[in-house]
Amino acid sequence: MSNDMDTLVERIATESEMTADEVRAAIEKKKKALAGLVSETGAAHIVANELGVKTLERTRPAVRSIGELSENMREADIIGRVVRVFPPREFSRKDGSLGRVANIIIGDETGTIRVSFWDKGVEVIDHHGLEAGTPVKLVGGFIKRDNMDRIEMRFTTRSRIVVDPKNAEIPPLEKLATGSTGGSAPAQRLLLRDAVPGDVVRIRATVVQLFENNPLYEVCPSCGKRIRADEKGKFVCAEHGEQEPAYNMVVSATVDDGTNCLRAVFFRDNASDFLGLSVDDVRSEGEKAGDMTAAISRSAGSLLGRELLLEGRVRFNDISDRNELMVNRVSPPNAKAEAEALVTELEGSTGTPPSPS
Ligand SMILES: [Zn+2]
Repeated sequence: MSNDMDTLVERIATESEMTADEVRAAIEKKKKALAGLVSETGAAHIVANELGVKTLERTRPAVRSIGELSENMREADIIGRVVRVFPPREFSRKDGSLGRVANIIIGDETGTIRVSFWDKGVEVIDHHGLEAGTPVKLVGGFIKRDNMDRIEMRFTTRSRIVVDPKNAEIPPLEKLATGSTGGSAPAQRLLLRDAVPGDVVRIRATVVQLFENNPLYEVCPSCGKRIRADEKGKFVCAEHGEQEPAYNMVVSATVDDGTNCLRAVFFRDNASDFLGLSVDDVRSEGEKAGDMTAAISRSAGSLLGRELLLEGRVRFNDISDRNELMVNRVSPPNAKAEAEALVTELEGSTGTPPSPS
């Protein structure tokens, strides 16, 4: 501690052209004036501040690998590349004021982390021209946990971005641990607010709306392609001629993961899994009721408000002008499996375990 104090005194002396003794005396005087409200170090900072000495940065932690970041560090510097930049969003605060937030993802060889910029801080992204591939050093990022228990960073008024930091060897984007490797793109646990078209995501979401349309559509029993009735009411496949149609099912629902909601589309088996009904169930119930939406309407009671695990691909729907989720898999949330998946994922993305400090 006294060593730190010596360093402080030395810095103040150098910057202010005072002697070390004069600085010590000033600190002592300040400490007395504040009647023991501040420590010696605190008094030294006040003195430095009054003298306009700005070299007194808090002792900085070394640059950390993203994979080793932990909440206990509170703050860290990281060096990596911008993997992705999300457009800013506006939101209303409880007091009615308008807030802004924008997120970027920074990656290094050990993992990726989301960094959020708030209000005026959002401008930092444009100011530095951050985009996918930009090499950056983020100084003084505040570390916290998001509501899905993942480590994230917050760019605060004390944080800084250095583009193209010196003496840093940062691998190209393709070599970074970006979470999704090419090819079959495994589903990644993303928040809906962060998901963009092309992402294959795994989310835990609540069904908040069910679209009560006729879920059935006619397909050619030979090739499975959709067929429609012609003016004579006959179903003709371009390839296989007139057919007695088979049926497939598509169901849409709005799902919400707590960060955003979007329309999820369930086809075929996924529609069956979602409704807990086969195509034949839906069809016979519809025929009995004289309304093909009957099964959907009846299912709404049990589905609305239900939580599900969904995997699927996010795509942009030109007609609705919104993103939607093409569901590839639907399953009820299973706490144990869910926790295991999370642990596996964390271990996978953490690389080296945090040092036991
Ligand atoms: Zn056909």
